[in-house]
Amino acid sequence: MRDQITLVIATRNTGKTAEIRDRLKEFPVDIKNLDDFGPIPEVNEDGETFDENAYKKASFAARILALPALADDSGLVVEALGGAPGIYSARYGGKDASDEERCAKLLKEMEGETNRKAVFECVISIAAPTGEALTYEARCEGLITERPAGKNGFGYDPVFYYPPLKKTFAELSRADKNHISHRGRALQQLRNEFDKVLIWIRQYMPPQEKFICKTENSN
Ligand code: IMP
Repeated sequence: MRDQITLVIATRNTGKTAEIRDRLKEFPVDIKNLDDFGPIPEVNEDGETFDENAYKKASFAARILALPALADDSGLVVEALGGAPGIYSARYGGKDASDEERCAKLLKEMEGETNRKAVFECVISIAAPTGEALTYEARCEGLITERPAGKNGFGYDPVFYYPPLKKTFAELSRADKNHISHRGRALQQLRNEFDKVLIWIRQYMPPQEKFICKTENSN
């Protein structure tokens, strides 16, 4: 039987790791995250796109740990704000601002704006230690509300209205949100192809040294 593949999720977020582990549970893969490896240097997320930042995080972890690694990068892109907060979604309103403060800032910027169109975007990158990578991208379109609604979720969920279900993301159960969200859709694409991804990973992993023990009688 082939060895089980280890895949490192380049995050210390236990919720994210649990969601990915759950999505890939029927595959022969041992999911770890950065907490399984002790301190490692922080990667600088200074890319200009979700794609660049996801690749930076995945390839950095893969190189430093010599294992295949997966990272995602996501954020909220608001049409009337020229794409803001976009790649700065986590830092919008300052590094130490709370989720409530970020939502309040967004609603203030959107005051009087009639174009409320917004999209959550997510990019997943899977990198081999050699630097090669696979990319999965997904989006979820919605509208920015006039005021927050709902208590579930995190980040901009209370101000992101999803028209097909007539609810904000914060009014959806976790299962319903995972089904239609940008991250959920990207993970679903990954899962649909994961048997091929495992073949790809095996191709790019440096070969392991094989030690063959010879007995006295063997040639
Ligand atoms: P990250 O890619 O997990 O680092 O997410 C970046 C930021 O985008 C988060 O800190 C949130 O502010 C925002 N964000 C990403 N996904 C979601 C979501 O599903 N709901 C609400 N906010 C999100």
